[in-house]
Amino acid sequence: MKTARVVYAGAIHEGREENGQLILQDGRTVSEEEVQWLTPLEPQTVFALGLNYADHASELAFNAPTEPLVFLKGPNTFVGHRGQTHRPSDVTFMHYECELAVVIGKTARNVKQEDAYDYVSGYTIANDYAFRDYLENYYRPNLRVKNRDHCTPLGPWFVDAKDIPDPMNLKLRTYVNGELTQEGTTENMIFDIPQLIEYLSSFMTLSEGDIILTGTPKGTVNVACGDEVVTEIEGLGKLSNTIMGGDSE
Ligand code: MG
Repeated sequence: MKTARVVYAGAIHEGREENGQLILQDGRTVSEEEVQWLTPLEPQTVFALGLNYADHASELAFNAPTEPLVFLKGPNTFVGHRGQTHRPSDVTFMHYECELAVVIGKTARNVKQEDAYDYVSGYTIANDYAFRDYLENYYRPNLRVKNRDHCTPLGPWFVDAKDIPDPMNLKLRTYVNGELTQEGTTENMIFDIPQLIEYLSSFMTLSEGDIILTGTPKGTVNVACGDEVVTEIEGLGKLSNTIMGGDSE
């Protein structure tokens, strides 16, 4: 099942997808445009992987890492489907990153790879925008690169894990104003989902609602004010975002 959280007529509703339509919990069918989309869950601790696809690492002229490169994201940075992300006026290179977001379903500590999927409740799509002008060092991602307000669209749906039998074989695509600009498959992750859960839970506790953003394949290009960016993952849907001018501060 695909579920969402939306605002409709002044109230927050849970909804589900049925035959391509959005059905509110009270049974009403509403169109995608009639609602405001919230993130499909309230993110708790959010981990983001740097350089977790070899083709993206080589695109950036970095060596593929030998251990996961992980940084954290705060709650200010998330925004729902059909939301807006500001492109600051001093930035010359801003790019999207289409990423499979893995949602943790229960407390996890010292989990072995073979048991890792027992701790996954579902999946959604993240667009992990980067403001590259502020990148000092890929091994030390800067908050100004990765944690600005509303620069990580998430959604539209939370998709139950049981509906995605093989999360390590999903196509990812990004379209800018309808043109395909990024294409890859989760098959090409350097550290796969079980490895990431084993790694993170080996030194800290993971909790329900924590999310792992698993990195992006190659094809990250500059986007401009007014662009519509759609990040799509097979089985999970399409996450739309519009780039706005000016500063959000
Ligand atoms: Mg990323």
